Amino acid sequence: MSVEYTDGRQFAGELWMPGDPGYMESCFHRVYHSRLPARLPAAVLRAANTDDVVAGVHLARERGWIVGLRSGGHSFPVWGVREGGLLIDLANLNDMSFDRETGIVRVGPAIAGGRELNPYLEQFGMFFPGGGCSDVGLGGFLLQGGIGWNFRGWGFSAEQIVAIDVVTADGELVHADEKENSDLFWAARGAGPGYCGVITNFYLRTRPLPQGLSSTLQIFSADDYADVLDWLCAEQVNFDPLVHLVAISLVPQFPIPGHRDGELGFAIWAVAFCDSMEEADAALRPIIGGPFAEKAEHTVPPHPTTLEAEYAFVDSSHPPNRRYRVDSAWVEGSPKAITSASTRLVLERPRNEPGHTFFQFALPRQGPDMAMSLRTNVMVGAYIIYQDAADDDRYQDWLLSAMGELEPLTIGQYWGDSDQQVRRVKCLTDDAWKRLRRIRAERDPDGVFADYLAGSVPFDNTNEWQTEGSS
Ligand SMILES: Cc1cc2nc3c(=O)[nH]c(=O)nc-3n(C[C@H](O)[C@H](O)[C@H](O)COP(=O)(O)OP(=O)(O)OC[C@H]3O[C@@H](n4cnc5c(N)ncnc54)[C@H](O)[C@@H]3O)c2cc1C
Repeated sequence: MSVEYTDGRQFAGELWMPGDPGYMESCFHRVYHSRLPARLPAAVLRAANTDDVVAGVHLARERGWIVGLRSGGHSFPVWGVREGGLLIDLANLNDMSFDRETGIVRVGPAIAGGRELNPYLEQFGMFFPGGGCSDVGLGGFLLQGGIGWNFRGWGFSAEQIVAIDVVTADGELVHADEKENSDLFWAARGAGPGYCGVITNFYLRTRPLPQGLSSTLQIFSADDYADVLDWLCAEQVNFDPLVHLVAISLVPQFPIPGHRDGELGFAIWAVAFCDSMEEADAALRPIIGGPFAEKAEHTVPPHPTTLEAEYAFVDSSHPPNRRYRVDSAWVEGSPKAITSASTRLVLERPRNEPGHTFFQFALPRQGPDMAMSLRTNVMVGAYIIYQDAADDDRYQDWLLSAMGELEPLTIGQYWGDSDQQVRRVKCLTDDAWKRLRRIRAERDPDGVFADYLAGSVPFDNTNEWQTEGSS
Protein backbone atom coordinates (compact mmCIF):
# COMPACT_ATOMS: atom_id res chain seq x y z
CA MET A 1 0.00 0.00 0.00
CA SER A 2 1.38 3.42 -0.90
CA VAL A 3 0.95 6.03 1.82
CA GLU A 4 1.36 9.68 1.14
CA TYR A 5 2.32 11.61 4.20
CA THR A 6 1.66 15.33 4.75
CA ASP A 7 5.28 16.23 3.99
CA GLY A 8 4.67 14.86 0.53
CA ARG A 9 6.87 11.84 1.16
CA GLN A 10 5.80 8.56 -0.33
CA PHE A 11 6.30 5.38 1.65
CA ALA A 12 5.87 2.04 -0.05
CA GLY A 13 5.22 0.66 3.43
CA GLU A 14 2.75 1.81 6.06
CA LEU A 15 2.79 4.73 8.47
CA TRP A 16 0.61 5.04 11.56
CA MET A 17 0.06 8.04 13.82
CA PRO A 18 -1.77 8.02 17.18
CA GLY A 19 -5.48 7.80 16.49
CA ASP A 20 -5.04 5.95 13.17
CA PRO A 21 -6.76 2.57 13.00
CA GLY A 22 -4.12 -0.05 13.73
CA TYR A 23 -1.76 2.38 15.47
CA MET A 24 -1.66 0.52 18.83
CA GLU A 25 -1.24 -2.83 17.12
CA SER A 26 1.63 -1.43 15.04
CA CYS A 27 3.47 -0.21 18.16
CA PHE A 28 3.83 -3.75 19.52
CA HIS A 29 3.50 -5.80 16.34
CA ARG A 30 5.63 -8.99 16.61
CA VAL A 31 6.86 -8.20 20.14
CA TYR A 32 7.57 -11.68 21.45
CA HIS A 33 6.53 -11.23 25.05
CA SER A 34 3.63 -9.52 26.78
CA ARG A 35 5.15 -7.21 29.43
CA LEU A 36 4.83 -4.09 27.28
CA PRO A 37 6.03 -0.61 28.23
CA ALA A 38 3.73 2.38 28.72
CA ARG A 39 5.89 4.37 26.25
CA LEU A 40 4.24 5.20 22.91
CA PRO A 41 5.86 6.53 19.73
CA ALA A 42 4.77 9.59 17.74
CA ALA A 43 4.57 7.40 14.65
CA VAL A 44 5.28 3.90 13.41
CA LEU A 45 6.70 3.23 9.97
CA ARG A 46 6.64 -0.36 8.76
CA ALA A 47 9.23 0.07 6.04
CA ALA A 48 8.67 -1.87 2.85
CA ASN A 49 12.29 -1.55 1.76
CA THR A 50 15.55 0.35 2.25
CA ASP A 51 14.20 3.46 0.48
CA ASP A 52 11.50 3.66 3.14
CA VAL A 53 14.14 3.47 5.87
CA VAL A 54 16.02 6.36 4.24
CA ALA A 55 12.79 8.37 3.91
CA GLY A 56 11.88 7.54 7.50
CA VAL A 57 15.17 8.92 8.80
CA HIS A 58 14.62 12.13 6.79
CA LEU A 59 11.09 12.45 8.13
CA ALA A 60 12.27 11.94 11.72
CA ARG A 61 14.91 14.66 11.24
CA GLU A 62 12.32 17.09 9.90
CA ARG A 63 9.94 16.38 12.75
CA GLY A 64 12.58 16.27 15.50
CA TRP A 65 11.67 12.68 16.38
CA ILE A 66 14.25 10.22 17.63
CA VAL A 67 14.34 6.95 15.71
CA GLY A 68 13.79 3.60 17.46
CA LEU A 69 14.08 0.29 15.61
CA ARG A 70 12.55 -3.16 15.59
CA SER A 71 14.03 -6.13 13.77
CA GLY A 72 12.88 -9.36 15.41
CA GLY A 73 10.91 -7.85 18.32
CA HIS A 74 12.64 -9.89 21.03
CA SER A 75 14.26 -7.23 23.19
CA PHE A 76 12.90 -7.52 26.71
CA PRO A 77 12.60 -3.75 27.39
CA VAL A 78 11.09 -3.25 23.88
CA TRP A 79 13.95 -0.86 23.12
CA GLY A 80 12.57 0.37 19.80
CA VAL A 81 9.46 2.02 21.28
CA ARG A 82 10.45 5.48 22.51
CA GLU A 83 8.06 8.09 23.83
CA GLY A 84 7.37 10.56 21.05
CA GLY A 85 9.84 8.86 18.67
CA LEU A 86 9.49 7.26 15.26
CA LEU A 87 9.51 3.48 15.46
CA ILE A 88 10.84 2.03 12.20
CA ASP A 89 9.70 -1.56 12.02
CA LEU A 90 12.06 -3.52 9.75
CA ALA A 91 9.80 -6.60 9.50
CA ASN A 92 9.88 -6.51 5.70
CA LEU A 93 13.66 -6.32 5.43
CA ASN A 94 13.77 -10.07 5.45
CA ASP A 95 15.44 -11.41 2.34
CA MET A 96 18.50 -13.65 2.17
CA SER A 97 20.97 -14.63 -0.50
CA PHE A 98 23.88 -17.03 -0.27
CA ASP A 99 27.11 -16.77 -2.24
CA ARG A 100 28.40 -20.30 -2.84
CA GLU A 101 31.88 -19.07 -3.72
CA THR A 102 32.55 -17.12 -0.57
CA GLY A 103 30.22 -18.94 1.84
CA ILE A 104 28.83 -15.54 2.80
CA VAL A 105 25.13 -15.02 3.30
CA ARG A 106 23.44 -11.63 3.05
CA VAL A 107 20.50 -11.31 5.42
CA GLY A 108 17.96 -8.63 6.22
CA PRO A 109 17.83 -7.73 9.94
CA ALA A 110 14.34 -9.13 10.58
CA ILE A 111 15.38 -12.66 9.65
CA ALA A 112 15.12 -15.15 12.53
CA GLY A 113 18.33 -17.17 12.90
CA GLY A 114 16.68 -20.50 13.66
CA ARG A 115 13.29 -20.34 11.99
CA GLU A 116 14.51 -18.81 8.73
CA LEU A 117 18.27 -18.53 8.21
CA ASN A 118 19.36 -22.05 9.11
CA PRO A 119 16.62 -23.85 7.15
CA TYR A 120 17.64 -21.69 4.15
CA LEU A 121 21.36 -22.44 4.59
CA GLU A 122 20.76 -26.17 4.98
CA GLN A 123 20.21 -26.57 1.21
CA PHE A 124 23.81 -25.38 0.74
CA GLY A 125 25.12 -27.63 3.54
CA MET A 126 25.94 -24.58 5.68
CA PHE A 127 24.80 -23.07 8.97
CA PHE A 128 25.08 -19.92 11.10
CA PRO A 129 25.25 -19.93 14.89
CA GLY A 130 22.30 -17.65 15.69
CA GLY A 131 20.50 -17.51 19.04
CA GLY A 132 19.29 -20.65 20.81
CA CYS A 133 15.62 -19.72 20.38
CA SER A 134 14.57 -20.22 16.78
CA ASP A 135 12.68 -16.95 16.57
CA VAL A 136 15.26 -14.40 17.79
CA GLY A 137 15.79 -11.65 15.20
CA LEU A 138 19.29 -11.35 13.79
CA GLY A 139 19.23 -7.51 13.94
CA GLY A 140 19.22 -7.00 17.69
CA PHE A 141 21.01 -10.30 18.34
CA LEU A 142 24.08 -9.49 16.22
CA LEU A 143 24.30 -5.87 17.34
CA GLN A 144 24.71 -6.94 20.93
CA GLY A 145 27.39 -9.54 20.16
CA GLY A 146 25.10 -12.55 20.00
CA ILE A 147 25.40 -15.62 22.20
CA GLY A 148 24.61 -18.36 19.71
CA TRP A 149 25.36 -22.04 19.20
CA ASN A 150 28.73 -23.00 20.66
CA PHE A 151 29.39 -19.54 21.98
CA ARG A 152 31.78 -21.40 24.27
CA GLY A 153 34.20 -22.29 21.49
CA TRP A 154 33.34 -19.92 18.64
CA GLY A 155 32.74 -16.73 20.59
CA PHE A 156 30.16 -14.07 19.80
CA SER A 157 28.17 -14.59 16.61
CA ALA A 158 28.95 -10.98 15.62
CA GLU A 159 32.54 -12.10 14.99
CA GLN A 160 31.15 -13.67 11.80
CA ILE A 161 29.87 -10.37 10.37
CA VAL A 162 32.09 -9.38 7.46
CA ALA A 163 30.18 -6.30 6.29
CA ILE A 164 26.95 -4.37 6.72
CA ASP A 165 24.77 -1.91 4.81
CA VAL A 166 23.73 1.01 7.01
CA VAL A 167 21.42 4.00 6.73
CA THR A 168 23.24 6.76 8.59
CA ALA A 169 21.84 9.64 10.63
CA ASP A 170 22.08 11.81 7.46
CA GLY A 171 19.76 9.39 5.74
CA GLU A 172 22.49 8.03 3.47
CA LEU A 173 22.84 4.33 2.62
CA VAL A 174 26.47 3.19 2.98
CA HIS A 175 28.40 -0.06 3.00
CA ALA A 176 30.76 -0.74 5.91
CA ASP A 177 33.45 -3.31 6.55
CA GLU A 178 36.95 -3.42 7.99
CA LYS A 179 38.23 -0.98 5.34
CA GLU A 180 35.28 1.17 4.34
CA ASN A 181 33.38 3.12 7.02
CA SER A 182 35.28 0.97 9.47
CA ASP A 183 34.00 2.95 12.48
CA LEU A 184 30.40 1.99 11.66
CA PHE A 185 31.51 -1.61 11.17
CA TRP A 186 33.43 -1.74 14.47
CA ALA A 187 30.47 -0.27 16.37
CA ALA A 188 27.92 -2.62 14.78
CA ARG A 189 29.60 -5.61 16.39
CA GLY A 190 28.55 -4.92 19.96
CA ALA A 191 26.92 -1.48 20.31
CA GLY A 192 23.65 -3.20 21.22
CA PRO A 193 20.59 -0.97 21.52
CA GLY A 194 22.40 2.33 21.02
CA TYR A 195 23.79 2.04 17.50
CA CYS A 196 24.05 5.15 15.34
CA GLY A 197 22.39 3.85 12.15
CA VAL A 198 19.90 1.38 10.71
CA ILE A 199 21.50 -1.83 9.47
CA THR A 200 19.61 -2.97 6.41
CA ASN A 201 21.81 -5.96 5.55
CA PHE A 202 24.33 -8.14 7.37
CA TYR A 203 26.93 -10.14 5.40
CA LEU A 204 27.74 -13.21 7.48
CA ARG A 205 30.42 -15.89 7.25
CA THR A 206 28.75 -19.31 7.46
CA ARG A 207 30.08 -22.69 8.62
CA PRO A 208 29.65 -26.13 7.08
CA LEU A 209 26.71 -27.88 8.73
CA PRO A 210 28.38 -30.27 11.21
CA GLN A 211 28.08 -33.93 10.24
CA GLY A 212 28.60 -35.03 13.83
CA LEU A 213 25.85 -33.22 15.71
CA SER A 214 25.23 -34.98 19.01
CA SER A 215 23.36 -33.94 22.14
CA THR A 216 23.18 -35.07 25.74
CA LEU A 217 21.24 -34.06 28.85
CA GLN A 218 21.74 -34.95 32.49
CA ILE A 219 19.39 -33.87 35.24
CA PHE A 220 20.47 -33.90 38.87
CA SER A 221 18.59 -33.20 42.05
CA ALA A 222 18.92 -29.52 42.94
CA ASP A 223 20.62 -30.74 46.15
CA ASP A 224 23.61 -31.73 44.01
CA TYR A 225 23.86 -28.42 42.16
CA ALA A 226 26.83 -27.07 44.12
CA ASP A 227 29.02 -30.13 43.40
CA VAL A 228 28.03 -30.24 39.74
CA LEU A 229 28.41 -26.49 39.09
CA ASP A 230 31.67 -26.27 40.96
CA TRP A 231 33.06 -29.09 38.81
CA LEU A 232 31.77 -27.59 35.55
CA CYS A 233 33.22 -24.14 36.33
CA ALA A 234 36.61 -25.70 37.04
CA GLU A 235 36.68 -28.27 34.24
CA GLN A 236 34.87 -26.69 31.30
CA VAL A 237 38.09 -25.17 29.99
CA ASN A 238 39.35 -28.71 29.38
CA PHE A 239 36.35 -29.91 27.38
CA ASP A 240 36.41 -30.04 23.59
CA PRO A 241 36.05 -26.53 22.06
CA LEU A 242 33.32 -27.85 19.75
CA VAL A 243 30.96 -28.50 22.67
CA HIS A 244 28.15 -26.04 23.41
CA LEU A 245 27.70 -26.28 27.17
CA VAL A 246 25.04 -24.83 29.44
CA ALA A 247 24.02 -25.72 33.01
CA ILE A 248 20.43 -24.91 33.95
CA SER A 249 18.34 -24.72 37.09
CA LEU A 250 14.77 -25.57 36.08
CA VAL A 251 11.70 -27.55 36.99
CA PRO A 252 11.76 -30.60 34.67
CA GLN A 253 8.73 -30.55 32.38
CA PHE A 254 8.39 -34.37 32.33
CA PRO A 255 8.18 -36.94 35.14
CA ILE A 256 11.50 -38.32 36.38
CA PRO A 257 11.46 -41.34 38.69
CA GLY A 258 12.70 -40.25 42.11
CA HIS A 259 12.26 -36.53 41.34
CA ARG A 260 9.39 -34.80 43.09
CA ASP A 261 6.95 -33.15 40.67
CA GLY A 262 7.29 -29.37 40.58
CA GLU A 263 10.69 -29.41 42.32
CA LEU A 264 13.77 -27.81 40.80
CA GLY A 265 16.46 -29.90 39.17
CA PHE A 266 19.90 -28.94 37.88
CA ALA A 267 20.68 -29.94 34.29
CA ILE A 268 23.77 -30.17 32.14
CA TRP A 269 22.94 -29.76 28.46
CA ALA A 270 25.72 -30.25 25.93
CA VAL A 271 25.68 -30.33 22.13
CA ALA A 272 28.77 -31.32 20.11
CA PHE A 273 29.26 -29.65 16.70
CA CYS A 274 31.85 -32.07 15.28
CA ASP A 275 32.78 -33.46 11.87
CA SER A 276 31.72 -37.02 12.70
CA MET A 277 29.57 -38.83 15.26
CA GLU A 278 32.68 -40.59 16.62
CA GLU A 279 34.31 -37.24 17.35
CA ALA A 280 31.09 -35.92 18.86
CA ASP A 281 30.73 -38.90 21.19
CA ALA A 282 34.35 -38.55 22.27
CA ALA A 283 33.83 -34.82 22.88
CA LEU A 284 30.78 -35.42 25.09
CA ARG A 285 32.18 -38.37 27.06
CA PRO A 286 34.08 -36.36 29.72
CA ILE A 287 30.94 -34.33 30.39
CA ILE A 288 28.42 -37.13 30.60
CA GLY A 289 30.88 -39.35 32.47
CA GLY A 290 31.92 -36.70 35.00
CA PRO A 291 32.53 -37.47 38.68
CA PHE A 292 28.85 -37.01 39.59
CA ALA A 293 27.41 -39.02 36.69
CA GLU A 294 26.10 -41.74 39.01
CA LYS A 295 24.08 -39.20 40.94
CA ALA A 296 22.11 -38.05 37.87
CA GLU A 297 18.38 -38.70 38.23
CA HIS A 298 17.92 -38.71 34.49
CA THR A 299 20.43 -39.12 31.67
CA VAL A 300 19.87 -38.82 27.94
CA PRO A 301 23.09 -40.31 26.56
CA PRO A 302 24.80 -38.68 23.57
CA HIS A 303 22.64 -39.26 20.51
CA PRO A 304 22.55 -37.94 16.95
CA THR A 305 20.48 -34.81 16.79
CA THR A 306 19.45 -32.04 14.39
CA LEU A 307 19.47 -28.28 14.71
CA GLU A 308 15.68 -28.43 14.49
CA ALA A 309 15.46 -30.71 17.53
CA GLU A 310 17.82 -28.53 19.57
CA TYR A 311 15.90 -25.37 18.67
CA ALA A 312 12.68 -27.13 19.73
CA PHE A 313 14.28 -27.98 23.08
CA VAL A 314 15.21 -24.32 23.70
CA ASP A 315 11.92 -22.96 22.36
CA SER A 316 9.96 -25.17 24.76
CA SER A 317 11.36 -23.23 27.72
CA HIS A 318 10.82 -19.76 26.16
CA PRO A 319 7.09 -19.53 25.45
CA PRO A 320 5.80 -16.43 23.60
CA ASN A 321 3.16 -14.03 24.92
CA ARG A 322 4.27 -14.30 28.55
CA ARG A 323 5.74 -11.71 30.86
CA TYR A 324 9.53 -11.98 31.15
CA ARG A 325 11.85 -10.67 33.84
CA VAL A 326 15.49 -11.27 32.91
CA ASP A 327 18.91 -10.33 34.18
CA SER A 328 22.48 -11.50 33.63
CA ALA A 329 26.04 -11.20 34.86
CA TRP A 330 29.47 -11.98 33.45
CA VAL A 331 31.14 -13.34 36.57
CA GLU A 332 34.73 -13.90 37.58
CA GLY A 333 35.88 -15.79 40.65
CA SER A 334 36.80 -19.23 41.90
CA PRO A 335 34.33 -22.01 41.02
CA LYS A 336 33.37 -22.20 44.70
CA ALA A 337 32.72 -18.46 44.91
CA ILE A 338 30.56 -18.50 41.74
CA THR A 339 28.63 -21.52 42.97
CA SER A 340 28.05 -20.06 46.40
CA ALA A 341 26.96 -16.62 45.14
CA SER A 342 24.47 -18.32 42.78
CA THR A 343 22.69 -20.28 45.50
CA ARG A 344 19.56 -18.13 45.61
CA LEU A 345 19.33 -17.92 41.82
CA VAL A 346 19.52 -21.70 41.57
CA LEU A 347 17.72 -23.03 44.63
CA GLU A 348 15.23 -20.34 45.50
CA ARG A 349 13.97 -19.34 42.09
CA PRO A 350 10.21 -19.33 41.48
CA ARG A 351 8.97 -22.83 40.68
CA ASN A 352 5.55 -22.38 39.14
CA GLU A 353 6.75 -21.08 35.75
CA PRO A 354 8.89 -22.37 32.86
CA GLY A 355 11.77 -19.97 33.57
CA HIS A 356 15.29 -20.96 34.45
CA THR A 357 18.66 -19.83 35.74
CA PHE A 358 21.45 -20.72 33.34
CA PHE A 359 25.23 -20.81 33.32
CA GLN A 360 26.64 -20.17 29.85
CA PHE A 361 30.26 -21.30 29.64
CA ALA A 362 32.99 -19.88 27.41
CA LEU A 363 36.61 -20.69 26.71
CA PRO A 364 39.21 -17.97 27.26
CA ARG A 365 39.87 -16.41 23.86
CA GLN A 366 40.82 -13.13 22.26
CA GLY A 367 38.16 -12.11 19.76
CA PRO A 368 38.57 -9.58 16.93
CA ASP A 369 38.66 -5.84 17.56
CA MET A 370 34.98 -4.96 17.87
CA ALA A 371 32.70 -3.05 20.21
CA MET A 372 31.58 -6.15 22.10
CA SER A 373 34.60 -6.57 24.26
CA LEU A 374 33.38 -7.57 27.69
CA ARG A 375 32.92 -11.16 28.71
CA THR A 376 34.22 -13.72 31.16
CA ASN A 377 34.25 -17.51 31.05
CA VAL A 378 30.91 -17.82 32.85
CA MET A 379 27.72 -15.89 32.26
CA VAL A 380 24.85 -16.33 34.69
CA GLY A 381 21.41 -15.51 33.34
CA ALA A 382 18.01 -15.69 34.99
CA TYR A 383 14.63 -15.74 33.24
CA ILE A 384 11.35 -15.58 35.13
CA ILE A 385 8.44 -16.27 32.77
CA TYR A 386 4.88 -15.74 34.00
CA GLN A 387 1.42 -14.55 33.03
CA ASP A 388 0.00 -12.25 35.68
CA ALA A 389 0.89 -8.55 35.77
CA ALA A 390 0.20 -8.63 39.52
CA ASP A 391 3.48 -10.58 39.87
CA ASP A 392 5.64 -7.94 38.14
CA ASP A 393 6.97 -6.20 41.25
CA ARG A 394 7.37 -9.34 43.31
CA TYR A 395 9.48 -11.01 40.62
CA GLN A 396 11.49 -7.87 39.91
CA ASP A 397 12.33 -7.52 43.62
CA TRP A 398 13.31 -11.15 43.90
CA LEU A 399 15.51 -10.99 40.80
CA LEU A 400 17.23 -7.80 41.92
CA SER A 401 18.04 -9.22 45.28
CA ALA A 402 19.20 -12.60 43.93
CA MET A 403 21.41 -10.95 41.26
CA GLY A 404 22.72 -8.66 43.99
CA GLU A 405 24.42 -11.63 45.62
CA LEU A 406 26.53 -12.05 42.49
CA GLU A 407 27.60 -8.41 42.37
CA PRO A 408 30.95 -8.93 44.17
CA LEU A 409 31.88 -11.27 41.30
CA THR A 410 30.13 -9.36 38.51
CA ILE A 411 32.31 -7.77 35.83
CA GLY A 412 29.40 -6.72 33.68
CA GLN A 413 26.25 -7.79 31.93
CA TYR A 414 25.08 -9.03 28.52
CA TRP A 415 22.94 -6.57 26.53
CA GLY A 416 20.56 -9.32 25.42
CA ASP A 417 19.54 -10.25 28.95
CA SER A 418 19.42 -6.80 30.48
CA ASP A 419 17.15 -3.91 31.32
CA GLN A 420 19.14 -0.85 32.28
CA GLN A 421 15.95 0.82 33.51
CA VAL A 422 15.93 -1.68 36.35
CA ARG A 423 19.64 -2.31 37.06
CA ARG A 424 22.49 -0.33 35.55
CA VAL A 425 25.35 -2.69 34.71
CA LYS A 426 28.39 -2.26 32.48
CA CYS A 427 28.11 -4.01 29.09
CA LEU A 428 31.36 -3.00 27.33
CA THR A 429 34.95 -2.46 28.41
CA ASP A 430 35.82 1.13 29.32
CA ASP A 431 37.97 1.55 26.19
CA ALA A 432 35.26 0.21 23.88
CA TRP A 433 32.66 2.41 25.54
CA LYS A 434 34.78 5.57 25.02
CA ARG A 435 35.42 4.68 21.38
CA LEU A 436 31.76 3.93 20.81
CA ARG A 437 30.64 7.24 22.29
CA ARG A 438 33.14 9.04 20.05
CA ILE A 439 31.82 7.28 16.95
CA ARG A 440 28.25 8.01 17.93
CA ALA A 441 29.01 11.70 18.53
CA GLU A 442 30.70 11.96 15.11
CA ARG A 443 28.16 9.93 13.16
CA ASP A 444 24.99 11.14 14.85
CA PRO A 445 25.76 14.57 16.36
CA ASP A 446 22.06 15.52 16.47
CA GLY A 447 21.03 12.36 18.29
CA VAL A 448 18.68 11.12 15.57
CA PHE A 449 18.93 7.54 16.79
CA ALA A 450 17.61 6.58 20.20
CA ASP A 451 20.37 6.32 22.77
CA TYR A 452 20.50 3.62 25.45
CA LEU A 453 17.32 3.31 27.46
CA ALA A 454 18.08 3.64 31.16
CA GLY A 455 16.34 4.67 34.34
CA SER A 456 16.48 8.05 36.04
CA VAL A 457 20.12 8.63 35.03
CA PRO A 458 21.55 8.05 31.54
CA PHE A 459 23.34 4.77 30.92
CA ASP A 460 27.07 5.38 31.43
CA ASN A 461 28.45 1.83 31.24
CA THR A 462 29.19 1.51 34.95
CA ASN A 463 28.09 -1.00 37.54
CA GLU A 464 25.70 0.96 39.68
CA TRP A 465 26.86 -0.62 42.93
CA GLN A 466 30.40 0.59 42.20
CA THR A 467 29.43 4.13 41.23
CA GLU A 468 30.18 6.66 43.94
CA GLY A 469 27.04 7.94 45.61
CA SER A 470 24.77 5.33 44.03
CA SER A 471 22.13 3.92 46.31
C1 LIG B 1 12.78 -15.91 23.89
C2 LIG B 1 14.10 -15.21 23.77
C3 LIG B 1 15.26 -15.95 23.61
C4 LIG B 1 16.49 -15.32 23.48
N1 LIG B 1 17.62 -16.07 23.29
C5 LIG B 1 18.81 -15.46 23.08
C6 LIG B 1 19.99 -16.21 22.78
O1 LIG B 1 19.97 -17.43 22.68
N2 LIG B 1 21.15 -15.53 22.61
C7 LIG B 1 21.20 -14.17 22.68
O2 LIG B 1 22.28 -13.60 22.49
N3 LIG B 1 20.11 -13.44 22.95
C8 LIG B 1 18.92 -14.05 23.15
N4 LIG B 1 17.81 -13.31 23.43
C9 LIG B 1 17.94 -11.86 23.53
C10 LIG B 1 17.82 -11.23 22.14
O3 LIG B 1 18.91 -11.57 21.35
C11 LIG B 1 17.78 -9.72 22.25
O4 LIG B 1 16.60 -9.38 22.92
C12 LIG B 1 17.87 -9.03 20.90
O5 LIG B 1 17.84 -7.63 21.09
C13 LIG B 1 16.75 -9.43 20.01
O6 LIG B 1 16.90 -8.88 18.73
P1 LIG B 1 15.59 -8.50 17.92
O7 LIG B 1 16.02 -7.93 16.64
O8 LIG B 1 14.66 -9.65 17.93
O9 LIG B 1 14.99 -7.38 18.90
P2 LIG B 1 14.34 -5.97 18.59
O10 LIG B 1 13.53 -5.67 19.80
O11 LIG B 1 13.66 -5.94 17.29
O12 LIG B 1 15.59 -4.99 18.52
C14 LIG B 1 16.27 -4.65 19.69
C15 LIG B 1 17.08 -3.40 19.47
O13 LIG B 1 18.27 -3.69 18.72
C16 LIG B 1 18.58 -2.57 17.88
N5 LIG B 1 18.40 -2.97 16.50
C17 LIG B 1 17.69 -4.03 16.05
N6 LIG B 1 17.79 -4.11 14.72
C18 LIG B 1 18.57 -3.09 14.32
C19 LIG B 1 19.05 -2.67 13.05
N7 LIG B 1 18.72 -3.32 11.94
N8 LIG B 1 19.86 -1.58 12.99
C20 LIG B 1 20.21 -0.91 14.11
N9 LIG B 1 19.79 -1.27 15.35
C21 LIG B 1 18.96 -2.35 15.45
C22 LIG B 1 17.60 -1.48 18.22
O14 LIG B 1 18.14 -0.70 19.27
C23 LIG B 1 16.41 -2.29 18.69
O15 LIG B 1 15.51 -1.53 19.47
C24 LIG B 1 16.56 -13.91 23.55
C25 LIG B 1 15.38 -13.17 23.71
C26 LIG B 1 14.16 -13.82 23.82
C27 LIG B 1 12.90 -13.02 24.00
